[in-house]
Amino acid sequence: MLLDGGAHVLLTDAAEPPVVADLVAAGASWLGALSEVPGSVDLVVTSPGWRPDAPLLADAARRGVEVVGEPELAWRLRAGADDGTAAPWLAVTGTNGKTTTVTMLEAILLAAGRRAVAAGNVGRPLVEVVTARGDDGAPAYDVIAVELSSFQLHWSSSLAPAAAAVLNVADDHTDWHGSFEAYRDAKAAILRHAPVAVADAGDPVAAALVAAHPHPVTVTLGEPGPGQLGVRSGVLVDRAFSGDPAGEVLLERTALELPGPHNTVNALVAAALARAAGVPADAVAQGLAGFRGGAHRNVLVATVGGVDYVDDSKATNPHAAGASLAAYPRVVWIAGGLLKGADVDPLVAAVAPRLAGVVLLGRDRERIAASLARHAPSVPLVTVASGDDDRMDGTATAAEETMTRVVAAAAGLARPGDTVLLAPAAASMDVFRDYAHRGRAFADAVRALGGPA
Ligand code: ADP
Repeated sequence: MLLDGGAHVLLTDAAEPPVVADLVAAGASWLGALSEVPGSVDLVVTSPGWRPDAPLLADAARRGVEVVGEPELAWRLRAGADDGTAAPWLAVTGTNGKTTTVTMLEAILLAAGRRAVAAGNVGRPLVEVVTARGDDGAPAYDVIAVELSSFQLHWSSSLAPAAAAVLNVADDHTDWHGSFEAYRDAKAAILRHAPVAVADAGDPVAAALVAAHPHPVTVTLGEPGPGQLGVRSGVLVDRAFSGDPAGEVLLERTALELPGPHNTVNALVAAALARAAGVPADAVAQGLAGFRGGAHRNVLVATVGGVDYVDDSKATNPHAAGASLAAYPRVVWIAGGLLKGADVDPLVAAVAPRLAGVVLLGRDRERIAASLARHAPSVPLVTVASGDDDRMDGTATAAEETMTRVVAAAAGLARPGDTVLLAPAAASMDVFRDYAHRGRAFADAVRALGGPA
């Protein structure tokens, strides 16, 4: 895109990625690893894998060379930005629930007949989407549902979404940002130039961020007050964007297929953003009622012997696992992996009453076991070691064998009516290639137990 626009593009990375050959053929120059910004450079476009304290980025900061991420670049390159025909952005960030909310929002917008697409930290790259034009030469989309991570927001300064949401802010990625406050401030950047700011009232940090905004809208699992979307007698209701002070009915909670209070919050936030963009209530209902969740996010894999086996491998931090566990009354919990420095103790204390049993795996399993000993000493616990030094290098058979033992142990602890829930509260890379590999291994092991859902 930059080459098409006549820019002189220099490429750098720690090691040469395969895409370099194509880019060099198209006119870019590959410089190999760099720790200083070449003198001729006006703008550095960085990727989330690079921490702000990487030598090259620190050098750019020292010399006053602007650094942006891909969303900021996309914002500046939007088709139609000069004549006012560019598609508005409806943007979502948060520690957990971003992808679910953005894809719900996309479904609502499509149900409303808008030419909409989900992009950013999910789906296609923003640069590609915002520069796309239809056969008539006009921008290809009417509206874009944008997922933004804290890493992307750290390098964004001028994004002005038509409405923006911070779902929640919990302990995660502080190693990259340097502190919780820096992480929170990166998330807050999504609201800076947005005329409408949305948050979950149940999340104190997110709610405080929007409270400081001129047009705050919050969502609640309870009866909505003025300026809120919420739930009245099992019905999702909008009191923020409705002409009727009593609020406008969106849909019955039971029409939402995804389980758990956290998914009600996600649906309300998606609805708020759509309503901010003028979407009628019936399109919100239609989009949400037809919505199926994403892979490895609270997916019922099978029911075997009266026990539901649910894959929420995407619960890669304690905050996500806490939301996930709250969706089921009695759980045999499969947890463990890489905690990334997160404190699991408050989670274990909170979920202890729901636990019918626990199976632990992965590198940090002993830290979770220590919390369980404090808060749930009488809950049956099985710990599954995964090799001598706990590093399986993602090899298929070793990882799958570990998961087979984990599922067998969980089946042994579960009674009919229980839910066996894979919600590890931890990253997967100590044993698996990624969370999807972990989720597939779980589903395969469950299916091997026998019985369809
Ligand atoms: P993200 O894109 O932010 O990683 P996802 O929508 O992929 O979020 O959901 C990841 C996991 O986070 C889910 O599998 C679930 O365990 C948990 N989760 C989803 N929504 C919420 C929420 N609103 N609050 C807390 N946890 C959530």
